[in-house]
Amino acid sequence: MKISGLNLILMGPPGAGKGTQSELIVSKYNIVHLSTGDMFREAYKNKTKTGLLAHEFTSKGQLVPDDVTIALVKERLLQDDCKNGYLLDGFPRTIEQAEALDEFTNSISSPISKVIALDADYNELVKRITSRRVCPVCGASYNLFTKRPLVEGVCDHCQSKLVQRDDDTEAKLHTRLEAYEKQTKPLLDYYAKKGLLVKVDGLQEIEKVFADIAGVLGE
Ligand code: AMP
Repeated sequence: MKISGLNLILMGPPGAGKGTQSELIVSKYNIVHLSTGDMFREAYKNKTKTGLLAHEFTSKGQLVPDDVTIALVKERLLQDDCKNGYLLDGFPRTIEQAEALDEFTNSISSPISKVIALDADYNELVKRITSRRVCPVCGASYNLFTKRPLVEGVCDHCQSKLVQRDDDTEAKLHTRLEAYEKQTKPLLDYYAKKGLLVKVDGLQEIEKVFADIAGVLGE
């Protein structure tokens, strides 16, 4: 099978705005949004074997083992809707995952087009994450400061009651940020060496961050 299209990776620490920017990117470029975090949450909701296993790690803010994560992503990338391009949000998060992704995309002759990395400082990330609220039904994401829902506590899209993700507490956030620093940050170098990396300041207004990303990707 050959997939050809705009194949993107969106990187950044938890709270850098990956979810929000992903929604804007996939809508403009008409590509599929693949969030491994969403996939794990969905699998856990459905009580699949992968979902239950992953929850042992996600509930502590730790990364799910590479073999489980890589298998999940490969299976998803082979589905038909990825043919015209996709945005990977939250994958890869380790060098092993990046190497597996390279091997896989080469084997189907459809390499990664660009890697966009959102930058943000530690204090801002803590503030953003602890004020994040999500819709448990449609997955939409909000922020009590920067992206408020129209009606407090209610999803704009499906009117469900918004909740806080159980790994968005300050205690678990610390573990997640540590995992990012130790395991994921080295990927910036990995992709810079391949000439694929573009850094964008994630602390700007949502619209400005998106304008910078669109400036890189073009029409
Ligand atoms: P996210 O929604 O991207 O913040 O992901 C939520 C949680 O899912 C993470 O804290 C990890 O436990 C797990 N997870 C998501 N993506 C990956 C990945 N690529 N590798 C390992 N664990 C992951």
